[in-house]
Amino acid sequence: MPIVSLSADNLLPLPAELVARLGLQPGDRLTVEVDGEGRLLLTPLRQPSAPSLADTINRKNLETPMQFIKGVGPKLAEVLAKKGIVTVEDALYLLPNRYEDRRQVVPLARLQPGRTEVFAGEVVSAEAVVTKGGRRFFEVLIKDGNSLLSCKWFHFNPAFMKKSWQPGRRGIFTGQVSQYGLQREVHHPEAEWLTEGETVEAAMARDPVSFGRVVPVYPLTEGLNQKVLRKVMKEVVDRFAPCVASTLPPAVAARHGLQPLAEALREVHFPAADADLRQLEEGAGAGHRTLVFDEFFFLELGLALRRRGVTLEPGIAFTVHHTYTKPLLKLLPFSLTAAQRRVLAEIKEEMMAPHPMHRLIQGDVGCGKTLVALLAALVAVENGYQVAIMAPTEILAEQHYLNIHHWCEQLGVTVLLLTSSLKGKAKSEVLGRVARGEAQIVIGTHAVIQDKVEFHRLGLGIVDEQHRFGVLQRGLLRRKGDNPDILVMTATPIPRTLAMTVFGDLSLSVIDELPPGRTPVATKIVSENRRQQVYGIIREEVAKGRQAYVIYPLVEESEKSDLKAATQMAEHLANEVFPELRLGILHGKMKPEEKEAVMRSFKERALDILVATTVIEVGIDVPNATVMVIEHAERFGLSQLHQLRGRVGRGSASSRCILLTAGKLSEDGEKRLRVMESTNDGFRIAEADLEIRGPGDFLGTRQAGLPDFRVANILRDGRLLEEARQEAFAVIAADPDLQLPENRRLRDELARRWGGRLELAGIA
Ligand code: ADP
Ligand code: MG
Repeated sequence: MPIVSLSADNLLPLPAELVARLGLQPGDRLTVEVDGEGRLLLTPLRQPSAPSLADTINRKNLETPMQFIKGVGPKLAEVLAKKGIVTVEDALYLLPNRYEDRRQVVPLARLQPGRTEVFAGEVVSAEAVVTKGGRRFFEVLIKDGNSLLSCKWFHFNPAFMKKSWQPGRRGIFTGQVSQYGLQREVHHPEAEWLTEGETVEAAMARDPVSFGRVVPVYPLTEGLNQKVLRKVMKEVVDRFAPCVASTLPPAVAARHGLQPLAEALREVHFPAADADLRQLEEGAGAGHRTLVFDEFFFLELGLALRRRGVTLEPGIAFTVHHTYTKPLLKLLPFSLTAAQRRVLAEIKEEMMAPHPMHRLIQGDVGCGKTLVALLAALVAVENGYQVAIMAPTEILAEQHYLNIHHWCEQLGVTVLLLTSSLKGKAKSEVLGRVARGEAQIVIGTHAVIQDKVEFHRLGLGIVDEQHRFGVLQRGLLRRKGDNPDILVMTATPIPRTLAMTVFGDLSLSVIDELPPGRTPVATKIVSENRRQQVYGIIREEVAKGRQAYVIYPLVEESEKSDLKAATQMAEHLANEVFPELRLGILHGKMKPEEKEAVMRSFKERALDILVATTVIEVGIDVPNATVMVIEHAERFGLSQLHQLRGRVGRGSASSRCILLTAGKLSEDGEKRLRVMESTNDGFRIAEADLEIRGPGDFLGTRQAGLPDFRVANILRDGRLLEEARQEAFAVIAADPDLQLPENRRLRDELARRWGGRLELAGIA
């Protein structure tokens, strides 16, 4: 403890150590309070952050429109704007998607297939050629010493080609080398022509942006030429990268070996002469890591704040009484899996804490999330609170209702169903019972969060199938009570890194175990023309007392005609293919009572085959169903296919899933179906989905209210995300409101990046 003493004129000189700890600058103001023990409490007043003049000028500079950059005319500016590049800051974050090593000119004899190389030589001949098969291409032969190389173009304008590729002309060329048999070829190389008598070295020195270095290759759109863009980018990086200030706490940057942002930007755009090409291509160099870390850090900082906003609020501290939970466990014909028990314990612990719970239960299809949720619901009911369970579709809400009601009836707990198809008197009666607190568990669709619904005492909100709800809806549910706990269930197995990002402000519980006795579903891709065989399989299973699903896709734009196809197909199957079997149809346009009747008869085995549109995608549970035929399987997304398939393989009998395909598959379509054939593991399927579709499309980060990534690649950079998250959460733990002077710049930068999206956390 440094000793301080008062001077004669009542000044209190502070030791440098204290000044630093409080982050004081000349002119800063403090409040001083005396506490009961005669100690002084010093609190620096947070100044309305006054950014330094240099910061202000730098920010202004970064907003310079691209059209003011040398080499950017109105046309190029327009093309760039279409790519979202309006200011120089946008351009700085347009990173190359690969690099070319143009440090050396390679003799023709030593060109390596598979690599992009730079070579020099003289044009020997240039002719349009027509193959025997009628294919046209343009061929140029290039010579250096005794070696010849063939360059080819497959789309070309002959007049234009003849004019530039004149025999005798010398140039420096760049292109990817390929090998056909013994011959090496380069397709559509780029050319830099030598002037009369000029040496290769002199020409390279003339264009130091494009030669003698590792050269960036930018993602292109039509109307952009690499060479032009490269020159523009060089100008932008040289002039404006120094304006980008690093706001990361210096200690964090040091711990992770990060560079100043300006240096990192320079390195990823125009790498140093001795750069490691492999590292660059993999985004593993210090430059890329710095940019990615920076991006993740501010994302996680915002998430940490948002989460802090939730956990610091007072919430309900439930007590576990076992009034209903114990009896339910006794009623169940099975015991909980270890994973269910673990997750339930995590939930209970958080429900008992005096802060609102905000937890995501993630688990593969059929792992028993609903049961865990019900047990959590019963804990709330035991404490005299109401529970709202929200499902994305009416049919799923109804199914939850049937399941949960089945158990709760035996426990003496009142469960009500509230959907938008409930009208008039029936509806007002339900609403009345909810408001009076007579309904202990209320299950419904988004109808549950409508204005008119009032709860007597809501203690827990459960949201099923999270990815269909936005953050907003979660918030609305929360406002139906006084900081109730929120539990979110998702059947979409989300790769961990992505879960952390998209749901970063939720705590995560994973049920990573299926109830015992489940057998993996044998999955096969079968072409339409073997349909009869597939019908044979259905017949066999039904003969064994099993049941089957036949699924039709409903594509939104053509919903009507697809619906017609599904109904027609059902009729065709009922009358011509399976006249001896009992067949039902289920689709989204049916009334809830009709749907429920059909579902119930299928469940009670009064139907052998259920022809359905994807309304059965989630939640339907009929363990006796052992075959699923998915028509036009190529039209479904991977996670949807996985959800659908999860409807079979729920009992101990071995089950099959047949993916019927029509016509030729697209490359992605084929990939998706092969993944389905090769694994039943939801996590592997989710990873594959992420790989095929890319993260943007996967859950919709925008829907989740998150900033977009500029440089990070969630698949590649998972490790960095975790590191950045730890650092960011540590900062918020030490300074929950980012009030400390040393965090002032962090706070400003955070507000700038997140815009209005931090309102809920009360910072912006
Ligand atoms: P999810 O919602 O996770 O897809 P469900 O909660 O619908 O899965 O559970 C699927 C089926 O497994 C239901 O029939 C449920 O009763 C049953 N089930 C849940 N937990 C167990 C368990 N521990 N042992 C056996 N069956 C279970
Ligand atoms: Mg479910």
